Amino acid sequence: MSILPKRNDLGFFEIRLESIGGLGANLAGKMLAEAGVLGLGLNGANFSSYGSEKKGSPVKSFIRFCDHDVEIRDHSPIEQPHIIGVFHEALYKMVDVVSGLDAEGIVLVNSARDFDGIKNDLQIEYGTLAIVDALTIAVEEKTKVNTAMLGAMFRICDFLDPEAMKKVIRKTFEKKYPHLVEPNIRTFDRGYNEVKFKFYEAPVGAEGKTFTRPEPQLGYITQEIGGVIPAPANSILKDLSGSRQGFLPELKLEKCIHCASCDTVCPDFCFVWEAGEDKRGRSQMFLKGIDYQYCKGCLKCVEACPTDALGDLREMIGYAEANRVKQNFPYAAGRN
Ligand code: SF4
Ligand code: SF4
Repeated sequence: MSILPKRNDLGFFEIRLESIGGLGANLAGKMLAEAGVLGLGLNGANFSSYGSEKKGSPVKSFIRFCDHDVEIRDHSPIEQPHIIGVFHEALYKMVDVVSGLDAEGIVLVNSARDFDGIKNDLQIEYGTLAIVDALTIAVEEKTKVNTAMLGAMFRICDFLDPEAMKKVIRKTFEKKYPHLVEPNIRTFDRGYNEVKFKFYEAPVGAEGKTFTRPEPQLGYITQEIGGVIPAPANSILKDLSGSRQGFLPELKLEKCIHCASCDTVCPDFCFVWEAGEDKRGRSQMFLKGIDYQYCKGCLKCVEACPTDALGDLREMIGYAEANRVKQNFPYAAGRN
């Protein structure tokens, strides 16, 4: 008898991880597949998809499990998963993370927010929502969110053996980074124990979310004429919010001495200045705010600030948009 709780027509139990490059979803997918294959004797496959500019761009990792006598001949991306893991809430504005979710599927989200707020943002009506504050766990244990997400994922996939996963964690880290073995096992355990669930009942006959495959914007009929770059990849048009990994700088202007140390270290011209006069009437530039659209959350400015005017802040959805001071690039009129 199969230990898998559900299988699709091809005999697969499928998981899709939605993440941002740098958060470790690729490694999490590999470790999850390894725990099922080596630990439980299942057949399994895992691969990830990401663009060339990996860090900060959307990443997906796919995991398929099936019984040992089922051959895996399907290597396509997973479009109708039983479980979806969302590693970063900034993804909502770029990707339909719950696309294709099974009607009785489970969505696991890394968040410190409440269930109903996340349900609204994800636009799901029924199914099970699981929340784990993986970032807080990772910060406290000095590890990464992927191991906490894995812990929560094991609680959801209760056919998997957490002890097998701990062996995989040990094997992965002990040779090169032995000091990371115990913090990662603690992170895994906390993810497992701290994940919370809320079930939203589906009406009889409810169907899952339909999968929408992103269409290319240009085809052979709508192709731009050669030699034109319609969207130059520069710092003026770019939105770097997806690169942030849970923190951004918070500015307390009343403590600022306008020394510009922050501006000197910021790699992305995020600091916005305006001309004014000091107490003696001499002209001086004054810091006005931060344009969070270009801020990747590296926090170099926080380290450089000689006063407490800059501090690191756990990012909550909407904070950056509400507190953004727009950069006034004169050569980008109408674009920002
Ligand atoms: S966190 Fe990094 S990118 Fe953001 S304002 Fe500070 S230095 Fe610039
Ligand atoms: S480094 Fe700190 S004090 Fe100096 S301008 Fe920036 S925010 Fe103000």
